Amino acid sequence: MITIDGSQGEGGGQVLRSSLALSLVTGQPFTITNIRAGRKKPGLMRQHLTAVNAATEVGQAKVTGASLHSARLTFEPGEPRPGEYHFAVGTAGSATLVLQTVLPALLCASGPSALRLEGGTHNPWAPPFDFLSRAFLPLVNRMGPTVNATLVRPGFYPAGGGEFHVTITPAANLAPIELLERGETKRVTATATVAHLPRNIAERELRVIAGKLGLTDADLVVEEVAGSRGPGNVVTIEIECEHLTEVFTGFGKRQVPAETVADKAIQQAQRYLSKGVPVGEYLTDQLLIPLALAGGGEFRTLRLSHHAQTNIEVIKAFLEVGFEIDRESPPGCVVRVKPALLG
Ligand code: ATP
Repeated sequence: MITIDGSQGEGGGQVLRSSLALSLVTGQPFTITNIRAGRKKPGLMRQHLTAVNAATEVGQAKVTGASLHSARLTFEPGEPRPGEYHFAVGTAGSATLVLQTVLPALLCASGPSALRLEGGTHNPWAPPFDFLSRAFLPLVNRMGPTVNATLVRPGFYPAGGGEFHVTITPAANLAPIELLERGETKRVTATATVAHLPRNIAERELRVIAGKLGLTDADLVVEEVAGSRGPGNVVTIEIECEHLTEVFTGFGKRQVPAETVADKAIQQAQRYLSKGVPVGEYLTDQLLIPLALAGGGEFRTLRLSHHAQTNIEVIKAFLEVGFEIDRESPPGCVVRVKPALLG
């Protein structure tokens, strides 16, 4: 039984989700203590509990401690079972983080899966749906599986109620990928989404983005969502490069001017464009587990966040892999995944 201290490193929800994901893939049971001890409201919140329940279902697992606010959990998985699943967070908690928990096991499972996920789809502090579908999943698909995600309805904080569907055709093994250069920038586009809010908010955001990033009307999209449960606003900047696409998001918030929301996304995009590395901070977080499962691969990023470093420690508790961080050839650093004995 592997023991994970949930307070290690950043002490957030990622320690739990990565443990669940890797326990499912490897079949190794684990106990986690001090769940999310580094956060203001520690223990299992609704989103984390939904992730635990999703992992329990997919892995036909025996679990103890799966209740709201629990700080300790024991998880003993069986064989991951591909198939049709419906996971609903029930609040605006992130449904994309629930996907993050079960996706690795389903990528390597014995058959295809179809998931229906409900909850938040565009939450601050979680991968927004567009980041998943445009930046992360295309890279997963390059590793062998075929994963498609379709947004049915966005879910924003605080109302939630979003829904997206994911189909997964697994691969027998994940193939390593190499992302050392991003190549030529082919196109930069921006989409401003408003739900139950004036269109004018989206237009103001896009005006600022167009001005600062030099975009034309053909690169800008206003999206007015009719069917969402509550109001919401996000602005997404997509940078399509020769070798990958990156996505940066600004989240609308009450009393924060549209221009400020746009600026948040612009700053991330400008930083990315000026630094010449292919993989941004959030994409780094998402790539660590797939590359570790592939047992190889490498990518260039600016630096490793505390979040990523914490995730690496959790991964090493479950898999015999090494992570080499090579800072010898800037820009940024190269993260290289190797079998542990060589790492
Ligand atoms: P807590 O730490 O409170 O338990 P949590 O479980 O929601 O919160 P974290 O452990 O902080 O989350 O993990 C958040 C995840 O969301 C990370 O994988 C991070 O890379 C990703 N993420 C956060 N913001 C963005 C963003 N703007 N775009 C893409 N991914 C994001």
